Amino acid sequence: MTSKLGLKHIQEIAPYVGGRPISEVAREYGLDESKIIKLASNENPLGMPKSAHDAMLAAANDLGRYPDSNGFELKKVLSARLDVPADWITLGNGSNDILELAARAVAQFDDAIIFSRHAFAVYPLASQAVGARAVEVAPTPNYGHDLPAMLKATQSAGDKAKLVFVANPNNPTGSYLTPAEIESFLQAVPSNVVVVLDEAYNEYLAPEQRYDAIAWVKRFPNMILSRSFSKAYGLAGLRIGYGVAQPELTDLLNRIRQPFNVNSLAQAAAIASFQDHAFLQKGYEVNRAGYHQLVKAFDEMGLTYLPSAGNFVLVKVGEDDAAGARVNLVLLKRGIIVRPVGNYGLPQWLRISIGLPEENTAFINAFREILAK
Ligand code: PMP
Repeated sequence: MTSKLGLKHIQEIAPYVGGRPISEVAREYGLDESKIIKLASNENPLGMPKSAHDAMLAAANDLGRYPDSNGFELKKVLSARLDVPADWITLGNGSNDILELAARAVAQFDDAIIFSRHAFAVYPLASQAVGARAVEVAPTPNYGHDLPAMLKATQSAGDKAKLVFVANPNNPTGSYLTPAEIESFLQAVPSNVVVVLDEAYNEYLAPEQRYDAIAWVKRFPNMILSRSFSKAYGLAGLRIGYGVAQPELTDLLNRIRQPFNVNSLAQAAAIASFQDHAFLQKGYEVNRAGYHQLVKAFDEMGLTYLPSAGNFVLVKVGEDDAAGARVNLVLLKRGIIVRPVGNYGLPQWLRISIGLPEENTAFINAFREILAK
């Protein structure tokens, strides 16, 4: 549809396409909702922790009032654990909010925003929304971020370069950057270019993959660390995430955020979830086991997949560019929702979010049958 209304760069945005909701798939294919398996949005298969559910219900008594716009209690808990002052923290309506605030705070029409091809779909959206030029950098051969190439692209954009998005682990490829790679990038990038390190899946990293991103926030005034409560903390439906940056950048984000961008239920649930170490640990273990379950099946089927540091796996389902959509449709009709990634430039692949053991088994069984045909 071409519109006479609005700005050209807004008209040109292709809206975000999320995983299909269970209710929608049930309606469309005449399926029983309770039997549908959704492995499409990198949600936590354990659901929301009980601790957070209880905290949320308690907070529900006060919904006639606005939330605490400054998120005092949640920032206190985050600040103590992360060892940064509370005024280094920005709460977001999902970490998505932080990504968009970053773009709006530092870039405008004709500026350049740099990110990797096959990285999170919101980077181009947030760039286009402010009229900036999205500079998409070709990935490494294994579909990871090519940070040296991203550095070159940033330098080539000169004064126009304002923002770089780096996802670790990346969605949808699951690729992982070592701390040494990230640190060299942060050291080399011009200090007037802001770097968002998007760690929405950070809690799924194996112990040997972990690193101290907060130490970088303390060293680099041009860095924003972004984290989510949607994945490992099980609160996707509540929409809450946070950014950590030094006061100069945090102050900018604070100026443009909506006054009450994070609702009170989300704040209460996040406090509980953040302190529920047993839930986090269980989620980690379920994810590890599910990852091995899926990749073992892919190995047996002789399929190519990308090693993933997140809670999802990208698997190649054919050589032609209709393969992902075709296999996805057959799975959908059988009540299994996964994510086709043609809009990420990966039409031969499907992204499978890691589920509970029985959900993974149901997917694997259907998948084997479909691919055998
Ligand atoms: N970053 C990445 C890499 C993601 O995959 C996602 C969710 N798909 C987000 C950020 C945003 O998540 P949320 O807004 O739910 O925190």
